[in-house]
Amino acid sequence: MNSLHESWKYSILSPAVTGKPQQFVQLDAAEPAGILRKPLFGLNLLALAGRMVEAGEPAWRGKQLAEALYRQRVGALDTITTLPKPLRQRLVAEGWDVGRPRIAQVFESVDGTERYLVESAGGDGQKVETVWMPEGDGGETGDGSEADGANGEREAGKRWERATICVSSQVGCAVNCQFCLTAKLGLQRNLTAGEIAGQVVAVLERHLVEVGRDRVNLVFMGMGEPFLNYDNFMGAVRLLVEEVGLSPRRMTVSTSGIVPGIERFAREPAEVRPKLAISLNAPNDRIRSEIMPINKKWPIEAVVDAVRKVQLRPRERITFEYVLLGGVTDRVEHAVEVARLARRTGLPVKVNLIAWNPGPGIEYTMPKPEAVEAFRSTLEGEGVPVYVRRPRGRDIFAACGQLKRTVEG
Ligand code: SAH
Ligand code: SF4
Repeated sequence: MNSLHESWKYSILSPAVTGKPQQFVQLDAAEPAGILRKPLFGLNLLALAGRMVEAGEPAWRGKQLAEALYRQRVGALDTITTLPKPLRQRLVAEGWDVGRPRIAQVFESVDGTERYLVESAGGDGQKVETVWMPEGDGGETGDGSEADGANGEREAGKRWERATICVSSQVGCAVNCQFCLTAKLGLQRNLTAGEIAGQVVAVLERHLVEVGRDRVNLVFMGMGEPFLNYDNFMGAVRLLVEEVGLSPRRMTVSTSGIVPGIERFAREPAEVRPKLAISLNAPNDRIRSEIMPINKKWPIEAVVDAVRKVQLRPRERITFEYVLLGGVTDRVEHAVEVARLARRTGLPVKVNLIAWNPGPGIEYTMPKPEAVEAFRSTLEGEGVPVYVRRPRGRDIFAACGQLKRTVEG
């Protein structure tokens, strides 16, 4: 093997996975086995400053470290040239490392979507999934984010104007929604704040995103239930806002309706609070309890009551996500009921329709395109803002609810 930072691993994915005849996939360089290093990535400014003071350095060295980790997105301590060399060497000798999660595998879709298996530095080898969608999937349309500053001009050489990164918050999920592939894994473990923010930073680096110039949205809609890993999720959001420089108005967190989580979220200050999406998925409690057993604990009205506590920004809307299951939730009378429900909340809501994406071992059927359209136009006719999310990366199992660490596709 060559030296650590020159060696790249390649793997050949099956054509069935990539939809292309044959494809080489580049992986981040692997860490040498057996060395467990302490990750700096994931520590906030205060903690980094504390580390520096412990090392006998002035606290402002913490600021330099934060700049390097989160703005310059360095991958190794020895490349942080703002720190004196002896200090870098000492940190390495003391067992510190950047320790940002790394992209271990890439699946490329014919539509430009990329799905990554991301592995923690020095972790347990378990991987989570992160998805890059150039031009997004229409999910943010109409929720108040269009009017926000950042210019979306296309740069020479950039193949996208506006991209969305879908981020995981847990390995697996405990919530057990009947239509979701991630549920099949059960909850393996929570991700740390560094592991959540690290997915984003690794992807920003891969696509050479210029924060503040390029238009990037984050959706916490990958594997896991963010509000059942609340502290780590919000820790990651703070890092992404305060250190990486992303706007919380370009972030959306989706929850299956964890009421205590929504209530905590409502108390977050506006400067760090992402937008909120609720996975409604059904027109009433009876159907919702069938497909989302969590509804028996926190039924629709309890969820809506909690959502009402969120102080919305001007133009901000609450998103109701609604997965259309063929024959189960996709009828016109369901749409009428959803419209009634949306009005009853008194909240500025918009509905995102998602045609159910199939997965192995799940017994639902996809809605017919006519049913999707009839559902959409019924809601529209009832005066409810509604958008249909484009399925992205279906061929690589990157679409909603398809995230299950599938290397087999
Ligand atoms: N756990 C959170 C966030 C991750 S799931 C939540 O449930 O909100 C993100 C979205 O994908 C949810 O709205 C969920 O309802 C949807 N989803 C899950 N499985 C799906 C599938 N097979 N097809 C389409 N959407 C799905
Ligand atoms: Fe978990 Fe969300 Fe899937 Fe439900 S839809 S099992 S909450 S990831």
